[in-house]
Parts: sequence; C-alpha cells; structure tokens
Amino acid sequence: MARTRKPKLAVWKFASCDGCQLSLLDCEDELLALAGEIQIAYFPEATRATVRGPYDLSLVEGSVTTPHDARRIQQVRRQSRRLVTIGACATAGGIQALRNFADVREFASVVYARPDYIETLATSTAIAHHVRVDFELRGCPINKQQLLEVINAFLQRRRPNVPDYSVCMECKRRGNVCVTVAHGTPCLGPVTHAGCGAVCPAFDRGCYGCYGPMETPNAPALSRQLRQLGMSEAQLKRIYRTFNAGAEEFRAESDRHDV
Ligand code: SF4
Ligand code: SF4
Repeated sequence: MARTRKPKLAVWKFASCDGCQLSLLDCEDELLALAGEIQIAYFPEATRATVRGPYDLSLVEGSVTTPHDARRIQQVRRQSRRLVTIGACATAGGIQALRNFADVREFASVVYARPDYIETLATSTAIAHHVRVDFELRGCPINKQQLLEVINAFLQRRRPNVPDYSVCMECKRRGNVCVTVAHGTPCLGPVTHAGCGAVCPAFDRGCYGCYGPMETPNAPALSRQLRQLGMSEAQLKRIYRTFNAGAEEFRAESDRHDV
C-alpha cells in the first residue's frame, strides 16, 4: 500500500528574538508526537538538515525591517500552502516597531559605531502588511498549547480554536481578584487578547498587553478608567507602546495621548 506523504512544516525567522520558535522547541514530548505526523522540513533553529519546498504549513516569526526581509517574505509566501504568523513581532511589528514613531536613522546613529553599514527600513511591520496570512497567533512569546492547537487544526483542515476575547475572561475563569477594581492597579487586560491564562494578574500585576489587542477592543473607555486611576497623558501614551505598539488598535490609542 502506498504511504501517504507527511505534510511538510517550515519555520521561518525574520526580525525577532527567537522566543516564539523556542516555544515550539519547548513542546518537547508533544514535539515528538508532532514529528510523527509532519515532516519538519525547514527549521534552522532546530536542525541544519533542510528539505526543499513547497511547504504545506509555514510558521513565520518576526517582523519585516529590511529591504531583504521584504523580498524574502514574498518568496516564503510563494512556497507555502498555508502561512501562520507567530508572536507579537510577526503579527504587530514587535517591540522594534517603536521605530515607527521616531526617526530610525537617529536610533541607528546612537546604537551602531558605523550606522552607514546598516541597511534598514524606516518601519517594522507585521507580516500581514506584506503578504496574505492564513492565521495570526498572538503573544510575546506565544503560548505553546495554542501553537499545538494551530498546527493540529491546519493538519485537520479546520479553523484553529483560539479564542479572541480578552484577558479579563481568563481572570474570571481562573478566579483571580481583579487587580484594577481591588487595588487600583492599571491593567490592559480588558483590551488584551487572551492566551496567557491571565498570568500577570494572578501574581497581582497589571497586564501590559503582550498578547496584543483582542477583537474590537474599547481602548478609549479603558483609557478613561486609567486616567481616573491617576495616569498622565504621557503614561497613557507609553502603556500602549510596548511589544504590540504597531498593532492598529494600540497604535491609534497611543496616538490619541501623544500631546
Ligand atoms: S513575539 Fe516576543 S518572544 Fe516572540 S520573537 Fe518577538 S520578541 Fe521574541
Ligand atoms: S502582560 Fe497581559 S497578556 Fe502578557 S502575560 Fe501578562 S497578563 Fe498575559
């Protein structure tokens, strides 16, 4: 009987810290089970052995920050039947998107001894700004259980079961006391995409939005509440400008406080 070909998985890196790729390696036991179902065809973080494309599923980490990246992501798309972006860098431009609010040449002149050697774009942008993306998995880093769910879903040709409600919902499920209501701690949980299991509020810290915006967040309403807690306009601008500063909803809200 002819053997069915295993689907080919490729993992690509753009401008990023590799933390999301490490979430895949961190799957350990599940990774062995996964390797039984798919062929890990291109994953330089894990192995130098590579198999030529096309690939059934590509996972893309990182943002586009150089002219070379902008060309390479087009090649990756052409070789990929399905393309999933993983992490805040790939879905929103990452912390490096702070350059979008400033002059990147000024940053380069401060950081590098020879900034004239640096070939970079003025902005850091999400992969979806450049090519069609089949699914975006948020987080900095991503949650490995959600990653396994996404890979499984694509193997089974169904939509991933990844909720797009807020961190507040996870707090309620976990039985966390609300840090804002109980202690007046500023928290971005009401506008932030679920996925982390509300880990920060569980330790009495406010959420700082590392999973990026939930679906249809009401950031202006949250900002009014944060102002009542004593945050200044400058603080409100900064609270939205972290790992997901380039996400449209957070960018727009931070701009509203850029006075
Ligand atoms: S999203 Fe966060 S953990 Fe993932 S690559 Fe970017 S900086 Fe690293
Ligand atoms: S910052 Fe928010 S989204 Fe990120 S781990 Fe903490 S609670 Fe979760």
